[in-house]
Formats: sequence, structure tokens, C-alpha cells
Amino acid sequence: MRVQLLPSTFDGFEASQRQHLTCFVIDDLVAIDAGSLAMSASPEQQRSIRDIVLTHAHLDHVAGLPLFIDDLFSSLTEPVTIHAGQAVIETLERDIFNWSVYPRFSELSNGNGPVLRYESFGQAEEFTVKHLTLRAVEVNHRVPANGFLISDTNSTIAFSGDTSGTDGFWKLINSAEKVSAILLECAFPDELEDLADVSHHLTPKRMGLELEKCERDCPVFVVNIKPMYRSKVLAQIEEMKLEQVEILEVGKVYEW
Ligand SMILES: [Zn+2]
Repeated sequence: MRVQLLPSTFDGFEASQRQHLTCFVIDDLVAIDAGSLAMSASPEQQRSIRDIVLTHAHLDHVAGLPLFIDDLFSSLTEPVTIHAGQAVIETLERDIFNWSVYPRFSELSNGNGPVLRYESFGQAEEFTVKHLTLRAVEVNHRVPANGFLISDTNSTIAFSGDTSGTDGFWKLINSAEKVSAILLECAFPDELEDLADVSHHLTPKRMGLELEKCERDCPVFVVNIKPMYRSKVLAQIEEMKLEQVEILEVGKVYEW
């Protein structure tokens, strides 16, 4: 499985490591979240991605979604399918695709048919998207949010999405047959623990406590580090000398 965290910004022509937005692309075909999808997808990815799986409806995870559909509007020969929990779908329709912030694409068609459709998934329920099998698990964020276990025929990887301390995510990982990599969020440095608490995110110290629940020795890649605190978070994680932990590189294609 090839996984790439799309860049949010660029330094010249190089992908910047500052992650303002979240959008992972799997095998150039399926997007997990859509924060930077319209802005950073390659032309090939833009042509092939028609399925987007959402962890939750926060802006940094969906900002590129309306723009992506807008860009493709006249050329779509099949609708873009958004796979999300029912509460997330309701938020998108009420707060984004509401004719005030952006058009309600779910009511619009081009010459080939509808341009946007929704598929809702239940918690702990297995569902398929293209060649991938997914299992959603509720995580601990300010709004309804999911992590996922995602498998193809060769490997399984876990995405925490945005979360604070959570047990279900680790239970799912520990019960899986095998896990090749875990992508775990860590938004704020330790000194901003109060902010992490109120916004339901992790700090390096809290991440360390989470990892004690993990019975896997697979690599853990840290994602979703708030750009303004990146160097602090990196230094604190480095200091913890956690063997299985590394920082996920923005823009790099990983193969698991
Ligand atoms: Zn969030």
C-alpha cells in the first residue's frame, strides 16, 4: 500500500514539512481526509481519486473538498463519493455545502450525472472503498471523529485521525491480525497540555501514555503536528527516545 501525506504548503518547489491541513492519498486512488486535496494532488491523483474517506468535519480536514469537486465539476463521469459517519455528512450538508458557504453539490449534476454522493459507515463496521477494506473506530475528539484500520491484500495500517487519549483505537489495532504502520497524531507540545485537553489532541507526553496501550512493535509515524509548534514537538519526542516512533515526512510516498 502506498501512502502519501499531501503537502499543505511549499517552500519554493519543495513540499514544506509544516502540516496545516490533512489529506492522505492511498495508491493514488483513495483520499483519507481532504484538507489539501484540491491544492496539492498531482494531476494523476486528481484524475483518479473519486473516493474520499473522512475522519471528521474540521476545516483542516475538509478545506480542499469543495474546491476539489468544483475543479472537477464539468469533467466528472462518475460522482465523487464521500465516505463518512452520518454526523459528519450532516455537518457537511448543513455548514459547508449549504448554498451560503458553497453550492450543495449533492443536488447538482453535470451532463454525465450527479457530481457528489455520500456513503455513510457505522462504527466498528467493515466497509470497502475501491481495493481497500476499512474499519472505523470512534476516537476522542471535540466532534464526532473516527480513526481507521485500512487493509489491502498485503498490509494493514492504522490512522488515528485527530484524537486525545482513546482506548478503542488501540483495541482495534491490538486485535488486528497484523499491522504494518500506525499513523498517530501529536498536535501540541507538552507545555500546551491545557490547550490539547480542551481541543482533544495529544502532546508528546500523552502520546507516550497512548503507546503503552499498543501491543504492536510496528513503526509509529507521528502526524498532525501543529506547524507553529513543530520544532518543540519534534524536540520533545526526540527526548523521549521511543524506539518505534518516527515523524512522518510530508510529501514522501511510503510503501507498507
Ligand atoms: Zn480536528
